[in-house]
Parts: sequence; structure tokens; C-alpha cells
Amino acid sequence: MNSVTEQKKGAVPRTAIVIGSGFGGLSAAIRLQSRGIQVTLVEQREKVGGRAYQMKEGGYTFDMGPSLITAPQILDKVFACAGTSLSAALPLLPLDPFYRVFFHDHSRFEYNGSPEGMKAQMRQYNAADADRYDDFMKAVAPIYAEVIEKGLGSRSFGNPWTMIRFIPTVIRLGAWRTATQFANKYFKDWRHRFVFSFHSLYIGGNPFHCPAIYQMIPFLERAQGVWYTPGGMYSLTRALEKAFIGLGGVVRTSTPVTRIRVEGGRATGVEIPEGFLPADLVVSNADVGFTYAKLIAPEHRRKWTDAKVNRQEFTMSCFLIFLGVKKRYPELAHHTLILAERYKDLLKDIFKNKILPGDFSMYVHAPTRTDDTMAPPGCESLMVLVPVANQASGIDWKTQAQPYADKILDFLEQWGLTDLRENLEVFKLFTPDDFESELSAWRGNAFGIEPRLSQTGYFRPHNRSEDLAGLYFTGAGTHPGAGVPGVMLSAEAAERCIVEDWPALTKKGL
Ligand SMILES: Cc1cc2nc3c(=O)[nH]c(=O)nc-3n(C[C@H](O)[C@H](O)[C@H](O)COP(=O)(O)OP(=O)(O)OC[C@H]3O[C@@H](n4cnc5c(N)ncnc54)[C@H](O)[C@@H]3O)c2cc1C
Repeated sequence: MNSVTEQKKGAVPRTAIVIGSGFGGLSAAIRLQSRGIQVTLVEQREKVGGRAYQMKEGGYTFDMGPSLITAPQILDKVFACAGTSLSAALPLLPLDPFYRVFFHDHSRFEYNGSPEGMKAQMRQYNAADADRYDDFMKAVAPIYAEVIEKGLGSRSFGNPWTMIRFIPTVIRLGAWRTATQFANKYFKDWRHRFVFSFHSLYIGGNPFHCPAIYQMIPFLERAQGVWYTPGGMYSLTRALEKAFIGLGGVVRTSTPVTRIRVEGGRATGVEIPEGFLPADLVVSNADVGFTYAKLIAPEHRRKWTDAKVNRQEFTMSCFLIFLGVKKRYPELAHHTLILAERYKDLLKDIFKNKILPGDFSMYVHAPTRTDDTMAPPGCESLMVLVPVANQASGIDWKTQAQPYADKILDFLEQWGLTDLRENLEVFKLFTPDDFESELSAWRGNAFGIEPRLSQTGYFRPHNRSEDLAGLYFTGAGTHPGAGVPGVMLSAEAAERCIVEDWPALTKKGL
């Protein structure tokens, strides 16, 4: 405990505000409410969910952000705090393949968790690579064990010693290498080099920069599977909201927080258009950069000045196209990746050069493959996700969005989704402008602060504010990082900080 966080002996917080209802916010709200703290969850949008939002139009249902459910054991821990379980709250259906990958030459890969199935496919491209699949998985298993099983992902990294103690492990596991260097040690074929290195993109990390610690994701998928729940990801959002309300928590939507009030160096509540909501502690699930720069007056920020916020590398953004189509495309799996020929240089254009390149790789979500209720009979509700540069690019999406979408639709029609345009019933875009304006995402980032070595662990914004007592963070911009499981772990890390700061709270469940 440091001086700004010291509490009166025996005191416990009675009230808390959580700003933002992404998965991190919902999880933190459940965790605190279950400890008997009266929590109010304050969300600026009309519905809860954050990036995991839902759009319904013309009989079509779209998940607007995350679509792959992974790490059910991590999700289950949050439901357990609410006295229930994931399986009681939601049916989960296993997906096979986890995803289908189409390479630029139309060769393909059905990625799943079956070692024999994976090796059989790899043999078509490079037999020696297939023989090294088990070695690769053996090498990533201990990374998974450190982060998930031994709890590194759910422990706050506010103390440099936590990081220093972890360095020998990082060296031993080779996790200091980049994700691509790690994969390239095992595989020669370019397809395999892609399928065993790209996972960090799921959380906004460039595999050519981010440390191989994020290579635990392929192991996590294999160990815990990839799942779907009827109604899509938004069913998970709703189930968490229900669990929170069931515990006695209060949800206020359409309520933007305009300021975190500070008295005597401590967060004492939040200002909203209707007035002031006092609280013993505040947890921000809003973007970390936005929270510091826009919600806290500069005189209260010795460490997180505007200059420091602007020095952070935020992740890339996404260009999202939602398509309601009067036709089905069975060549698409539930999750499909369609890749450009360029890998490293395309990512460089997005992450570093911050330009809008002429080629693109994309992810397509086709939930009707598993769930007929997501679209009218015989139709598809598709989400096309193209990673693009964040708003530091200066791209004018007001003029670029439509031509860019046209280019992507042209590509998809030529690629094989025939007559796509003439069968469209719903066509909606969500651009980096929308990430910025709808979600208050700094520079329109899609995944928070970029996961690179210099922004990992202790070097990421901490779960406990260094500037204000009584202020904590959960969500993609803080430790451990983005992704549904990641932000749920961040809520646990924030809860640990709160329990440390109010020792009279029991350590139960941590
Ligand atoms: C397109 C896309 C696809 C993805 N796919 C996957 C996937 O398949 N699987 C996976 O695991 N992860 C995926 N991710 C990542 C994952 O969705 C996110 O990392 C995670 O959902 C972010 O949760 P969060 O807790 O950080 O909160 P967010 O979802 O970022 O929510 C923050 C909330 O805070 C609110 N807020 C901000 N400012 C204020 C304010 N001043 N007052 C009140 N409220 C405020 C916002 O409105 C928002 O609702 C995807 C992300 C994107 C963008």
C-alpha cells in the first residue's frame, strides 16, 4: 500500500462507481458488488457492452465487436463471484474449426484444437513443420501456465519488483522474442508462420513487435476451446448485466461521466449531466488515455500528464462493415480469415506508416453458420473486420469510408461472395471515427494500448492509479490487456488492488 492509498484501519468502502460497461467494467462491478459494496455502473451509451455491442436491423442481428468466446474458465470465475456459473447462465457451443484461414492463393487451413487434424493439414504444406507442431505447443504451454494458471494476468503490476521477478521466467521461456520470431523458430512454411503468430492481432498487437508472451493465446484456444453462445456475444454481455443487477447493482445507461471529482488527492465520485455521484472508490473502464486526459483535471495528474498520454502507443483501429445479405455463403466458416499476400509490410503500413494501403486482410463473422436466429431464413448477417491505422493517421473517414467499403465489397465479390451487392438488405459501417466518438477510444483505437514489450506488465497503465487514491482501472488499456478474457482478468487485478488498499475487505475468492 502506498501513502495515497492508505485507509483508516478497519474501514471498508461502502460505495463504488464503475465508469463504462465493457466486459472489464461489468466484471469489476460484479466483483465489487459481490463483496457487499454498493456499485453503480455508469455507461454513456444507450445499452451496456462497450465494444461488445449489438445492432439489430431488418431481422438481422450483429455483434459489433468481439465474436470469439475463448477461455470459458476465466468467464466462469466472474459468474462464480455472482454465485452462479457460466454454464448456468449460458449454453456454450464448441466451434470446429475455430476459424478457416484463406491465404491469398486460395490455399486454406482449418484451424482447430485437434493436434492430429492440425498436423495432417500441415503435412500438405511442409511435413517437417507438422512434426514440430507438438514442440511448438510444448514451448507455449508454460507461457500459458504462467499467465493464466499461476495468475500473472490477474495480478496487478503496479510494483516494479513484480516485473523484475518475472524477468528470469521470460528469458527461460523465450517470451522476450517477438511472436513471429518465436513461431519462425519452429515453422518454415509461410502459412504456418502466419497461423502460429497472428494471434496477438486479436488483442491489437503487431506480431512482429509484441513479445511472445502473447503466444499463450494459441495454447489457450487449444486448452479451453473456441465457443459460441446462441444470440451471439451480446448474450454474454446481457448475462453479466443480469448477474450484476441480481446482486443488487445499479446500472445507469445514457449517462456520460464528465469528470472524476478529486478532493485531497482522492477520487470522491463522478460528475454526470444530472449532478454528482459520490463514492468511496471509482473504477474506470473507460479508455485509460481518455480517463486521464479528459476526466481528470490536469492539476491532479503529476504522472499521467497529457504529454504522457500522448506518448503511449495505442493499437490500430478497425474498419467494420455490417452486411445483411439475402443469400448464404457456405464457403465461409463461422469465423473466417481472408488474407492478403503481404503480412509484415501490410502490418507496417497499418501500425507504423499509418496509411490506407490498397490491399487488406480481413476477418469475416458469419454467425448463421451456427445460429439461424441471427438472420432471416436463408440469409446471412456478416461482419467484415479490416484492421486499419488509428486516428494518428489523419485519414479522413468522412470521405474515405464509402470508397474503402466499395473496394472491400468489390474484392469480396471477386473472391467468391457472388452477387453480394445485389443481395444486400443491411449495410452499415463503423469506422475509427466511431471508435473515437461512440466509445471515447483515444485516437480511435480498437484494442486500447498496444501490447509491446515497452507497454507490458509494469510498463502498462496500472490497475491502481499512480495519481489519485481511490481510482482503479479495468479494461483493455490496463494490465493484462485486451480481449474478453484479458479485460476480465484486469477486473480481478483491480479488485486485488482494492482489497490491498482496504485490508478489512477479505481476500476471499482471490
Ligand atoms: C471489432 C472487434 C472485435 C473483437 N473481437 C474479439 C473477439 O472475438 N474475442 C475477444 O476476446 N476479444 C475481441 N475483441 C477485443 C475485446 O472486444 C475488447 O478488448 C474488450 O471487449 C474491451 O472491453 P473493455 O472492458 O476494455 O471495455 P470497452 O468495451 O472498451 O467499454 C468501455 C465502455 O466505457 C464507456 N465509456 C467511455 N467513456 C465513458 C464516460 N465518460 N462515461 C460513461 N461511459 C464511458 C464506453 O461507452 C464503453 O461502453 C474485439 C475488439 C474489437 C474492437
